[in-house]
Amino acid sequence: MTKQVYKFGGSSLSSAKRYHAVANICHHLKGGDAVVVSAAGKTTDTLVRLWSCYHNQDHKGVGEVIALLKDHQCALIAELLGDKSEVYAHFIDDINAISQRAGCAELEQAWLLAHGELWSARLLAHYLNKIEVAACHFDSRDLFIVAQNNLKHEENTARCQVLKNDQLNVVTGFIASDENGSTVTLGRNGSDYSATLLGKYLNADSVTIWTDTQGVYSTDPRKVEKAVKYNKISQQQAQLLARLGNPVLHAKTLTPLKDSDIKLVVRSSYDSHSDGTKVVANEQAKAKRFLTTLASSDVFQLTNSNKESIRELSILLQHPLQPLEVDGNTLLLVPSQFGEQVAAFYQEHAVLIESNVSGVAIVSEPGSEPQLLKSAKQLLEKQSMTLRGAWSQDGFAILLGDQLLESDTLSLLHDELISAKQELAVIVAGIGNVGEVFLSQLNSQLERLNTLLPVKLVGLLRSTSSLLNGQGIALSSASEQFNEHAKTTTSEQLIEFIKELDYGHKVIIDITASEQFSLLYPEFALHDCHIISANKYAGTAELDWYENLRRLQTEKGLLWRYNTSVGAGLPINFALKDLQNSGDKITKISGVFSGTLSWLGAHYSLDKKFSELVEQARELGFTEPDPREDLSGRDVQRKLLILARELGLSLNLDDIELSAWMPTELANGTWQDALTKRDLLDKFVEELALEAEKNGKTLRYVAELDTTTKPVIAKVGLKAVSPNAAVATLTPGDNIFVINSVWYENNALIIQGPGAGREVTAAGVHSDLYWLCHKLSE
Ligand code: ADP
Ligand code: ASP
Ligand code: MG
Repeated sequence: MTKQVYKFGGSSLSSAKRYHAVANICHHLKGGDAVVVSAAGKTTDTLVRLWSCYHNQDHKGVGEVIALLKDHQCALIAELLGDKSEVYAHFIDDINAISQRAGCAELEQAWLLAHGELWSARLLAHYLNKIEVAACHFDSRDLFIVAQNNLKHEENTARCQVLKNDQLNVVTGFIASDENGSTVTLGRNGSDYSATLLGKYLNADSVTIWTDTQGVYSTDPRKVEKAVKYNKISQQQAQLLARLGNPVLHAKTLTPLKDSDIKLVVRSSYDSHSDGTKVVANEQAKAKRFLTTLASSDVFQLTNSNKESIRELSILLQHPLQPLEVDGNTLLLVPSQFGEQVAAFYQEHAVLIESNVSGVAIVSEPGSEPQLLKSAKQLLEKQSMTLRGAWSQDGFAILLGDQLLESDTLSLLHDELISAKQELAVIVAGIGNVGEVFLSQLNSQLERLNTLLPVKLVGLLRSTSSLLNGQGIALSSASEQFNEHAKTTTSEQLIEFIKELDYGHKVIIDITASEQFSLLYPEFALHDCHIISANKYAGTAELDWYENLRRLQTEKGLLWRYNTSVGAGLPINFALKDLQNSGDKITKISGVFSGTLSWLGAHYSLDKKFSELVEQARELGFTEPDPREDLSGRDVQRKLLILARELGLSLNLDDIELSAWMPTELANGTWQDALTKRDLLDKFVEELALEAEKNGKTLRYVAELDTTTKPVIAKVGLKAVSPNAAVATLTPGDNIFVINSVWYENNALIIQGPGAGREVTAAGVHSDLYWLCHKLSE
């Protein structure tokens, strides 16, 4: 039976609300699975403070910290189980025992620190029972035995057989016992390690580390807004990051998984629908770049060191260590709090060369370290940072100065050294017609895009088949490759492909006109994929769906451009955004938004039969195969809705009044059926045109939005306009957008030009792609 191990870190257990979320996630587990928990929130930090007050005989401090612990835990328990619960009473007993031991000078550090995890396990198991999920809790000191600093794997595996197969097993992380039954800890952040150990002992299928970020990022996403989330990282890089002190995974987490098929994933308990980051075998992930900060450290030069002594020291300090080999010397970087212990451990074999320095480590693909070091040095020196040390070696570089890097300096380094090098994977959906031109233009655009960031085409999709290749598809032979190798692909297969793409950024370019395909947008967003669409469906979908998609994209920092869905390549969306960004307020938008209806409007006169004109347009390829799709005005209605939403209006399609350029009697059957009633169509148009002419006007099919009224006016239909009006003097086939705003109040801003056509639409999509690359590389 496959088993799963979930680990929840302190950040996932910091409040009652977080416990509810954790319990919800646990619903996906079954009897026999295990849940490893850390201490709630910052409880271990508080216990460490308690220990140091005790150690320094600060009795007042001991009392204060105990009161803090009590407040936090009591509030948690009371909210989840009530203050009459067994867990509450048990907690009070524990607190009394701690106070008593502190009073008699009998406190032991590991025993004290163990309480954070014990409280979490007890509380979670009881809370799960309360919401009718069968669960029991275990103290990992009964399961994990350590002898001479080594875990007794065989014995521990046997001990773990006590876990129950018909319940969820909530197990304390971080703690174990030595052979005498005394408490030992696995080091700070050690619950990650507990989880993979348990995974190994239970022969689990997977271990999931649930934390408060959506996975492992290129740098701390709390400090750098543009941190890039990685889908996959190699075990080697994960381990290196941990040894450099990054908190996202404990350094030993991967050790138990060596030579096993147990999967390891880091996910967010704050957003359980999101994919996380998989930690995979080295050959299964490209090498990535990371920045990780180094807080207050001491640097020692070791004169007589070997790997074994560093391992011993690491065990003694309960802290991972990453030595640096520089010109035949070994340097060791340790948090300053351990400085004295390191000096005592190595005695005359270690020379302190820097103390209390801070800085940053850059983890990168092999070969690039020296160049990265050089660029980072220049950037930091420009920021007036005095460097106290800068070294590089295989896989990483370290730069140290006097101060901890603030978010802005970290962001600067990240933008220059990390973001700019993230590859963008491009999938093009809809490769006939506009898509075909887009691809041929992509060939010449690539060079320009590559100056911003590396761009790779990885997928080509038609409605029935697709060519997907994560390694990249050569553009020069894309259509041949498609013809030879394209396969039928289901939506699930496409989503799986996107999910697995090992790229810093991904974008799907939707040049289809498929509503079905647009329904996948939320899935694309869930899998961290940006979207560029010429397709109008998602932008005009039902408001709740649309707003959810927008929210999801905002939460994940994803971009969505659809400039070509209105006016093809005309920069209408850019203009609206620009005006709003510069503080203007748009009051009205009107115009002719359809090339077909523009052509019909310009060519119609009372001496012609409208149906004949439509047939002529159809033969020229100016209309949809069924011209009623144009005449219905629905397409124009969608475009007006997209623009209205660009202005921040929460409208639905139904809020836009629509009258078609044909009588309702023509709506049913095929176009050929409709043509049998052409007299009705001709009469309908002629009557309206005569009426217009009587008033010295002419007919145009226009869209109008007026935001100055309440409710706003939004309508689409035939209108009698003055023959001198901008909408009437339009070149046949062109679109026109007439924009009034506070600044363009009487004299409108007009954007006019071809609003359809393969070349201009494809060029418009390129403009969106260039914009995206620019944004991602900023
Ligand atoms: P937990 O309580 O779940 O064990 P930690 O606080 O130990 O969580 O680790 C998660 C934190 O690590 C995040 O909140 C984030 O601020 C920080 N962090 C630092 N670097 C990274 C990174 N590269 N990717 C993700 N998180 C990071
Ligand atoms: N609670 C411990 C700590 O804060 C262990 C862990 O969170 O993994 O270090
Ligand atoms: Mg942690």
